[in-house]
Amino acid sequence: MSKIKVTNPATGELIEEISMQTNAEIEAAIENGHKAFHKWSKLDAHERSRLIHAWSAKVQENKEELAKLMTLENGKPLNEARGEIDYSTDYLDWYAEEAKRVYGRTIPANTNSKRIIVTREPIGLVAAITPWNFPTAMMARKAAPALAAGCTFIVKPAQETPLSGMKFIDYAYEVGIPKDAIQYVMGEGKVVGEIFTNSKLIRKITFTGSTGVGKQLIANSSENIQHVTMELGGHAPLIVTEDADIEMAVHQTVAAKFRNAGQTCVCANRMIVHESILDEFTEKFASEVKKLEVGNGLEEGIDIGPIINEKGYNKIVEQMEDAIAGGAEVLVGNQFQANQEKGCFFVYPTVLKNVTTEMTIMHEETFGPVAPIISFRTLEEAVELANSTPYGLAAYFFTNDYRVGHYLHDHLQFGIIGWNDGGPSAAHAPFGGMKESGLGREGGIEGIEPYLETKYLSIGGL
Ligand code: ADP
Repeated sequence: MSKIKVTNPATGELIEEISMQTNAEIEAAIENGHKAFHKWSKLDAHERSRLIHAWSAKVQENKEELAKLMTLENGKPLNEARGEIDYSTDYLDWYAEEAKRVYGRTIPANTNSKRIIVTREPIGLVAAITPWNFPTAMMARKAAPALAAGCTFIVKPAQETPLSGMKFIDYAYEVGIPKDAIQYVMGEGKVVGEIFTNSKLIRKITFTGSTGVGKQLIANSSENIQHVTMELGGHAPLIVTEDADIEMAVHQTVAAKFRNAGQTCVCANRMIVHESILDEFTEKFASEVKKLEVGNGLEEGIDIGPIINEKGYNKIVEQMEDAIAGGAEVLVGNQFQANQEKGCFFVYPTVLKNVTTEMTIMHEETFGPVAPIISFRTLEEAVELANSTPYGLAAYFFTNDYRVGHYLHDHLQFGIIGWNDGGPSAAHAPFGGMKESGLGREGGIEGIEPYLETKYLSIGGL
């Protein structure tokens, strides 16, 4: 039986080897999830709510242990791992409450002899595929609304970081959520993806990951007309206007750019700064970036952990080399620590100036701690630069002029907008992208909708 080696990206040490499941085992899990649907969906919503809240409390009880495991396999600083556990339980608690608010409605009929009633029902068995950058949060924001709605759930975590996600689900079992109502399976992404989309028992696919894989899953899901929710890539612009509070913009840009070593789909990828404040912003930003400490996320005071793997590292290095060859000036960073043998890769936080739109970094998601800065003159120009991407996930802008803010909000084609806010993600708000960044929303009242079917009843002869 083939095994996955889960290693610490900061040291290369082996943490654990876990077995991949065979196709037959994965199919059996799907069958079990399908069978469990009848029972789980018929549990009353208040009981499902109580169980999901209990799961959240159990995760919180074990927060330190889970956070350490997450840092070990993912590399993110321990404080960020703790933050991710809180963010994950926020989803559990939010959807435990939403379970009780799955409302239907009545519609006035066009004759007194009829009544029209609309009810909402859970969609069925849901299959999820999750990424390595937020090993528990991306699971929580799918599993919580699915279970709350009455769906059963099966997830394939990323091979790089399966352990914290598996442990997260084990806590659900400890509080009494049935084993077949929520399950994890381990296997190659492509193989499991195809098993999921080929299955007539799975009614919905929910995925967070790259746009390329998302497109494949959407195409394959047509075979069985499965519902899909897709959280895909991003290329977030961050605009700083001439009237912005520069201190605030600098502080928030550091947060929006360097969280998880820049390895998030909502990380600011392009800093678009008004020419009149370009020097002041750039200088202050670079001096803050210089203070960021790089190293093993388990150690005190570390801000930037390792890059997840060699593929991710090579992509970042290539984008930097391309930018520098094209004339970008390095203000901070452009330093690396790579140990191929151990599989450890660090990129020091980097600020690039004199960036042009021809450079790859202005077109492709970097997924690393590199901040390219470009200037603009008019707001129209800033919007055009920001929107000139196939992605439409997150955008940020900094302004204290409400007319400018309103204009930018109106014109930016992105699903999530932070106005003077570098960290807009929250369990109670709808997260998701436009264009090639995805389909559907997770979080907020919107986040439970994709797990519900609408059933319309027309009663006649009254
Ligand atoms: P990344 O390059 O950031 O790892 P991916 O989209 O490749 O992003 O991975 C996100 C998740 O999708 C992981 O769980 C991975 O195993 C899974 N995956 C990778 N390739 C496929 C595929 N062809 N079909 C379904 N899932 C896949």
